[in-house]
Amino acid sequence: MEQALELMLQQKFGKTLKSADKKEIYIALLYIVKEKMKNVQRNTGKKKLYYISAEFLIGKLLSNNLINLGMFDETREVLEKYDFDLTEIEEFELEPSLGNGGLGRLAACFLDSIATLGLPGDGVGINYHEGLFLQKFKENKQYEEKNPWITEEGWLNKTDCHFEVPFKDFTVTSTMYDIDIPGYENGCNKLHLFDLDTVDENIIHDGIQFDKEDIRRNLTLFLYPDDSDEKGQLLRIYQQYFMVSNAAQLILKEADEKGVDLYHLHEHVTVQINDTHPTMIIPELIRLLTNRGFNMDTAIDVVRKTCAYTNHTILAEALEKWPVRYLEQVVPHLLPIIHELDQRVRRDYHDERVYIIDEHDLVHMAHIDIHYGYAVNGVAALHTEILKESELKPFYDIYPQKFTNKTSGITYRRWLIHCNHRLAKYIETLIGPEYLNDAMALEKLLEYKEDEDVLARLVEIKQEAKTELAEYLKDTQGVEIDDSSVYDIQIKRLHEYKRQQMNALYAIYKYKEIKKGNLPVRPITLIFGAKAAPAYTIAKDIIHLILCLQQLIDNDPQVSPYLKIVMVENYNVTKAEKLIPACDISEQISLASKEASGTGNMKFMLNGAVTLGTEDGANVEIHDLVGDENIYIFGEKSEKVIELYETKGYCSADIYDNDPMVEELVDFIISKDLIRIGDPVNLARLYKEIVGKDWFMTLLDVKDYIKTKEQMIRDYEDEKVWAKKMLVNIAKAGYFSSDRTIAEYNRDIWKL
Ligand SMILES: *Cc1c(COP(=O)(O)O)cnc(C)c1O
Repeated sequence: MEQALELMLQQKFGKTLKSADKKEIYIALLYIVKEKMKNVQRNTGKKKLYYISAEFLIGKLLSNNLINLGMFDETREVLEKYDFDLTEIEEFELEPSLGNGGLGRLAACFLDSIATLGLPGDGVGINYHEGLFLQKFKENKQYEEKNPWITEEGWLNKTDCHFEVPFKDFTVTSTMYDIDIPGYENGCNKLHLFDLDTVDENIIHDGIQFDKEDIRRNLTLFLYPDDSDEKGQLLRIYQQYFMVSNAAQLILKEADEKGVDLYHLHEHVTVQINDTHPTMIIPELIRLLTNRGFNMDTAIDVVRKTCAYTNHTILAEALEKWPVRYLEQVVPHLLPIIHELDQRVRRDYHDERVYIIDEHDLVHMAHIDIHYGYAVNGVAALHTEILKESELKPFYDIYPQKFTNKTSGITYRRWLIHCNHRLAKYIETLIGPEYLNDAMALEKLLEYKEDEDVLARLVEIKQEAKTELAEYLKDTQGVEIDDSSVYDIQIKRLHEYKRQQMNALYAIYKYKEIKKGNLPVRPITLIFGAKAAPAYTIAKDIIHLILCLQQLIDNDPQVSPYLKIVMVENYNVTKAEKLIPACDISEQISLASKEASGTGNMKFMLNGAVTLGTEDGANVEIHDLVGDENIYIFGEKSEKVIELYETKGYCSADIYDNDPMVEELVDFIISKDLIRIGDPVNLARLYKEIVGKDWFMTLLDVKDYIKTKEQMIRDYEDEKVWAKKMLVNIAKAGYFSSDRTIAEYNRDIWKL
């Protein structure tokens, strides 16, 4: 590596390791790694997977690629010899902003595991120039700015692969960009990102505004452009069709190149539809096959044996339904096929709940996936049960054999070796390197459950990560946190069902306690990180509340020595990698039944944080694995919550009116203290929402939440007992390796 670096620095910049600066080192490393990846063998096989997703939240790639290529340790050593730190070098890489949250991060972890298991499988998505927006805080509110991440020197490789994508009034020509995805000590796959050469960043103004109708210039600018109006919804349809038309044409092109008989396409290709965004791949493939002479029956039959669908949510508003009228305006050539698919459903099943087109002329995208795909999976055991028993029950009754569970996972390369190298190395000294290839081997750590030296070292490693996070936050955001405090962290998209507002109510509770003189034995640092969708008003109001509380406490000398709130700006993968290793208390407090799986919960556990959570998503499986001793569970269970929705039995005003403590906490949102700092419109709207509606039942669980968190903070003081919980969490995290998830997908669905 030393030689390679010297050579590359000489060639690119006429410099040496001694004279180069950090940015030059970064670029030299980028080229070395890209060169190396060219020589890694492509994973091949008779059957190939296409993983289609609107999001790939891949994070920075330098370290991950170095790890997977087996060059990580050596590179760190060489850099250290010349007084460079890989972490600092990496600051020059911009994080590709190609995802929004868990769904996109899951897709990224999956690509890593697919390559690592040596399976032939490529990702297909869109090359959004500005990705999701960049989040800025001003006057305690979120503002959105564009987030350009594509630079001259980067991981994208422009290809000479182009396709014609036909819309109603015009046709565009796409360009395919590739990112190499090396497996861990294994072959290589690709992420194909489609783009349009005519797209123009210069049409963006005032933050993230642009002409939504100028499709040729806006098509691949942003992930999830605001769809609160008709133009925005049409743009999303343009984007989705652009993605799947390219994917379908790529699939057929590669099948042709391999000489595949298209009547046997399903023996050579499987398509995983990640959430409903890529659903139009089904009618598009049918259309292309009929263009090639297939009759309708055969085209449908072949496509049905090729496509599989992953459901990511039971929130009704997230299951996409497009008006027929909109589809007619963008992709009229798909409508005869969609009508045909609907007719066949109506012919076979006399149950309007499973129709594709409903009585309001809305096309239910998930229904296309379920009828015309061969597999449907949920992403955690509880989630899949809820799909089968309630949300998708009419479909489960028709197709019980299609439904399976695939509990999500995370890649250990990024979420342990890279982000917490010290812990990874220490684990290796205890149980050897086997766990790097077989995550279940982490269980061997249980042998050290009573070993005081090991427990003490775990605490020390956690402390080092906490100190590093304090330095990072000081450098990047200018905030100071006390590294001897308990770090309590909630980082995830801002959504009412994830209940950041409940955590904010805890902050209010603690603030008031401290004011009363009930001081915590150790200071508490509450850390938040979350972006709110630009048009999601209440989510933005919750951010406003948290930022106002942050300011209130910072300016109160009576409280600030004991309690600190930090809202990290622009939460993304890079920030997650700094925050997770430093966490003591992992907040996973969604309303039971609403979080499909969660993967943040798994990352925290693997890094020795203890979960404070509801019986929801994969928390249920974490609970089963670690046992009652090593997790803090509170709140109503999913059965009860589902019943409350069905019977309309929940009324937040009843709780508010009858419980003085709850009333006091909620009233604080519109107290003089906060109104003085914040915007009364935002605070009053949030207050009203919680008292008058509270659709995600914050007040149902808030008292149990506060009680459980207080217990947890007390337990934290017994260092040895706490360290044991940390160890058990790490030891039991092996199940949540995405290598396991992908092995299951392959065994049950893809059969590559
Ligand atoms: C893991 C991850 C998520 C998903 O977090 P959840 O807590 O499961 O919602 C979202 N964003 C980023 C950047 C992540 O790394």
